[in-house]
Amino acid sequence: MASGRIPNYLLVDNNIALNESINTLKNTPTSALLAVDCEGVDLSRKGKLTIVTVATEERAFIFDVIKLKEEVFAEGLREILEDKSRAKLMFDCRQDSDSLWYQYRVKLNGVLDVQLQEVLKRREQFGASASSGANQRRSQRLNEVENIYGLNRCIKLYLDDEEARKTKEGGTNQVMKDKAVWQKRPISGSLLRYCAVDTLVLFKLYKVIGSSSQELAQLRVASERYADMYRAKSERSFDRYEMNAYLPLDIISCDESAYQGIHCTGCKRIFPREEFSKNQLSKGNQKCRVCKKVKQRLDTNAHKEQRWLRRQREEESFGYYDSDSN
Ligand SMILES: [Zn+2]
Repeated sequence: MASGRIPNYLLVDNNIALNESINTLKNTPTSALLAVDCEGVDLSRKGKLTIVTVATEERAFIFDVIKLKEEVFAEGLREILEDKSRAKLMFDCRQDSDSLWYQYRVKLNGVLDVQLQEVLKRREQFGASASSGANQRRSQRLNEVENIYGLNRCIKLYLDDEEARKTKEGGTNQVMKDKAVWQKRPISGSLLRYCAVDTLVLFKLYKVIGSSSQELAQLRVASERYADMYRAKSERSFDRYEMNAYLPLDIISCDESAYQGIHCTGCKRIFPREEFSKNQLSKGNQKCRVCKKVKQRLDTNAHKEQRWLRRQREEESFGYYDSDSN
């Protein structure tokens, strides 16, 4: 696939286009991959889902959820998104899945999450960061905590696609300037191209990263867990323990037989007892390894802030600031 090609897309915001697009997608053989991505304002159960893009390898269909409302799902998108036998490439499906379920009762299924595929690839290349402390208690094996990468980083790492990178950058800048941009209409050409790139690029990444059949089986199960991760929560915290750049534990591989049902007080997920130190457990303040890392970072930032405040107070008491406001 040549880079530099203008992405092929269609904005779907009326009933005729809706019927035609759904027909095209449904007539795509189930053996072919689709790619899916959602946009919105504060995309999650509490925000507003405004765009769903579903792409074949040739073309991205950008469904305007604001204009088409429930109908976009009733007229066919629900069937496609819920169909387990239709593999859908996504990139971090967690918020998309949460918003689809809580806003439209669409239960996303059949995801192959390229963000997780990339972690599997890194493990294959560099080895899982586990090995060293296999005898240690789970709670002590902090080196097993892995980072997840964003889409921009993956494009940079795996694809030499300047056009995609620029289109992404342009869209990201617009979203940074105006968080409500995804609910404004008409949708600008540059944002439509952004939606198209966000899905079309997944086909390329998926191929370049590549997976063995064993990895693919792992990826299927892991992606299912990922899609369910936020969706299965009765309550969300939207804090750093819930949303951070670490791979949540037990998403890619997990020994469910070992579960004894102890909640992490950070992310509220359930882990086997070995995930926590005895000391933490006795205090009833047990945090999983990911949440420990998050807490370390939060504490470092809090220290920085305290140091800054202290310095400011010192400077003030030394009269470094003129109190010209009085
Ligand atoms: Zn946790």
